[in-house]
Amino acid sequence: MSDIMGLKAKLGLDVFKHDNEPHIKIKPGMERDPRLKRAVLVCPAGLYSLNAEGEVELTIDGCLECGTCRIACGVEVLDWNYPTGGAGVQFRFG
Ligand code: SF4
Repeated sequence: MSDIMGLKAKLGLDVFKHDNEPHIKIKPGMERDPRLKRAVLVCPAGLYSLNAEGEVELTIDGCLECGTCRIACGVEVLDWNYPTGGAGVQFRFG
C-alpha cells in the first residue's frame, strides 16, 4: 500500500462546519455568465459544475475558502465572503 495520499483523501480529512447561509453565492442572473464558467475549471475542491441548461451551480459544502473562484470570476458574478466565526473549514492534513 502506498504512503502517498491523493488529493481526495486529503480533502476528506478536513472538517466543515455549516454556516447559517452559504458564504459564497452566485449573483442572481449570472448563472450563465462566461466568467463564472472559469470556476468550474479552477476550484480545487470541484464545487462548481455546469448543468444541462448551461448554468453554473455551486455546492458550498467542502469549500476550502481559498478565494480562487473570487479571483478567477470576479465580484461582479460572485458574492464572496468568509464564513462567520466558528463556521467553515478546519484543515486536518498535518
Ligand atoms: S473559495 Fe476555493 S474551494 Fe471555495 S468555492 Fe471558491 S475556489 Fe472552490
